[in-house]
Amino acid sequence: MTASTVQANALDDARVQLAEAVAVLGYPEGLHRILGAARRETTVSVPLVRDNGDVEVFTGYRVQHSIARGPAKGGIRYSSEVNLDEVRALAMWMTWKCALLDIPYGGAKGGVDVDPRTLSPAELERLTRTYTQGISPVIGPDNDIPAPDVGTDEQTMAWMMDAYSATRGRGVPGVVTGKPLDLGGSLGRRTSTSRGVAHISLLALAKEGIAPSSATAVVQGYGKVGADAADYLAEAGVRIISVSDRFGAVHNTDGLDLSRLRAHSEERGTVAAFGGGLPIDPAAVLELDVDLLVPAAVEGVVNADNASRVCARIIVEGANGPTTAEADKILERSGVLVVPDILANAGGVVVSYFEWVQAQQGYWWTLSDVERGLDDRMTAAWSSVLDQAATTGSTLRRAAMALAVGRVARAHRARGLTH
Ligand code: NAD
Repeated sequence: MTASTVQANALDDARVQLAEAVAVLGYPEGLHRILGAARRETTVSVPLVRDNGDVEVFTGYRVQHSIARGPAKGGIRYSSEVNLDEVRALAMWMTWKCALLDIPYGGAKGGVDVDPRTLSPAELERLTRTYTQGISPVIGPDNDIPAPDVGTDEQTMAWMMDAYSATRGRGVPGVVTGKPLDLGGSLGRRTSTSRGVAHISLLALAKEGIAPSSATAVVQGYGKVGADAADYLAEAGVRIISVSDRFGAVHNTDGLDLSRLRAHSEERGTVAAFGGGLPIDPAAVLELDVDLLVPAAVEGVVNADNASRVCARIIVEGANGPTTAEADKILERSGVLVVPDILANAGGVVVSYFEWVQAQQGYWWTLSDVERGLDDRMTAAWSSVLDQAATTGSTLRRAAMALAVGRVARAHRARGLTH
């Protein structure tokens, strides 16, 4: 599958999911159109003078899908595969995620079509500052609040915060979340998505009557989300038998030694060639016979081509959009429990919300306050999705979408359908 196929599918999949929710909720076509349309789409050119003096021009995006329930919120992706349709899909999913977790935000996403691994740190900083200046008219603590995603991190957010602050003539810590602690980041934010993924995974295992100590799992995408999710799951007793990244995969049926794996990955930039297991085809990781599969890489990896070969009992979507709409139907028929992205990976935006609240108040919470708040919100969302699924006899994705889309639609209606 080519990159462009994957990206085109992400928006198609997001639209199919919305159409299904609209049908379940019985909404008229006009409301459907409002719910599906992005509120604002910004495209900027991002010129970069390379360290050797060459000039390149990248394209940056910021799509605000919805501001019906509050300021737009969503991550910034740096990847050569970023394009407008992918950003549109990811922005729409953020709207539903924030609504499902009952956080007072709309949804947004941004990105630059650059492979960050090809840039020096100084080039990355210049690129980030130029991109931030480009989108600064539409972001801000009360308008739209970026955060890290694929290919970006705390350092990226620090540069964004500084570049935005320069346009305002004062420090504005609330403009981004996922900042370093020294700039007003929140304790627990860096690992919050992973903690939430693991928390929901344990709830899903319990629902299926599987004890963590007897459970096996694989994690696709050993990045910011996947690596810490593997650690949290292993801490709870789950045996992680395989992990992958874009360069390779490693397998050990006795369970991988995750502290050695992390050291290897940090040193080499990949899990490939890790001595504590055997190499395995990265595509095969998705088809291993395990209790729990956590896709934590990119969209569209479980698709019509491989869904019938998925043997996992449960899929917990650490990534956004890892399962295509076609694959969803196949997995439903084969009885795989799919915990949807808008629930499973919402821990990051929950603690981003806490970080924003702390910045707005100028008052910082303890780690235990943050972790308790995160766990409570994830458990509450899980319970409401389970109740909705049981009441309506639907999959967890359809239940989550119906709850989320219903909340956004009510906000639109209360405002008079103009926002
Ligand atoms: P990241 O860049 O830190 O890690 C991504 C990992 O996936 C890397 O290890 C990369 O090598 C790997 N990868 C990429 N393509 C792959 C492929 N085809 N097969 C196997 N591995 C592959 O990114 P991240 O922040 O961990 O984000 C991962 C996913 O989680 C994305 O879908 C992102 O939107 C989603 N997400 C991230 C956050 C967050 O807080 N960072 C929050 C919610 C959702």
